[in-house]
Amino acid sequence: MNLGIEKVSVHGGHSGQYCHHAKNTLQEVVQAYIAAGYSWVGITEHMPPLNDSVRYPDEADSGISADQLQNQFQHYFAEVRALQRQYADHIQLYAAFETETYHGSASYVRELIEACRPDYIVGSVHHVGGIGIDVDREQFEEAKHKSGSMEHLYCQYFDLQLAMLQDLKPSVVGHFDLIRKFDDDYLDTLELPSVWSHVERNLGYIAEQGLILDFNLRGFDKAVEQYPAVPVLKLALQLGVAVVPGDDSHGVNSVGRNYQRGIEVLKSLGHNCQWQRPMLFDW
Ligand SMILES: [Zn+2]
Ligand SMILES: [Zn+2]
Repeated sequence: MNLGIEKVSVHGGHSGQYCHHAKNTLQEVVQAYIAAGYSWVGITEHMPPLNDSVRYPDEADSGISADQLQNQFQHYFAEVRALQRQYADHIQLYAAFETETYHGSASYVRELIEACRPDYIVGSVHHVGGIGIDVDREQFEEAKHKSGSMEHLYCQYFDLQLAMLQDLKPSVVGHFDLIRKFDDDYLDTLELPSVWSHVERNLGYIAEQGLILDFNLRGFDKAVEQYPAVPVLKLALQLGVAVVPGDDSHGVNSVGRNYQRGIEVLKSLGHNCQWQRPMLFDW
């Protein structure tokens, strides 16, 4: 336990039961959060794909169809609600999900919100030009090639993000600068005037709308530091954006990992480590 600092996650709880690239059952993941001393956690599984063509590669490889994944998602929601009640004395769970952003996704997200009545959603972008930007280097290069340049790729990503935020107003903005995952020179790319002005614009919108920025601890595993990168984080804090840890756990082993590292980064930037809670839908 961190001395005096509450353990929370606005973005977590992917599980092998409902996500092909995660591990363990959702109940095991919830139990791990309780054992680790978390006071509240948003369980934010990925939304199902709209159709077969936008399945994640691991889903396509396993042969599971979009239809099956959509059915599975209904079970996911029923189970989170059941776990929420079952463990209410030990932890506060929020039943939520993480969006995708691609052609046709926004109306599908709205349908899912109506059908599942989540507590909140995490607005994320994992595709640019229909290509996954966080899957592997090969797909990232393909997306960059399609965009024309690294600079354009970042700008397109942030344009998609802003449109999604304006359209869906998610309570939480997932891994703000995920686009940098496979860019080894991301600090230089972020500094390009066109890219930085997109960052400033999106953070300005997030501040104005009072959305929470996911301080995504998974970045330490995959991309040197958390999302968002320190220069982005500094500006977010200057603008008064609420920054809250999200461990983006994908199984018991990643519950709460990197928490201490993350807290140290936030403290060094003057964050008081008091966590704002997500705005909830009023059902
Ligand atoms: Zn995932
Ligand atoms: Zn994500």
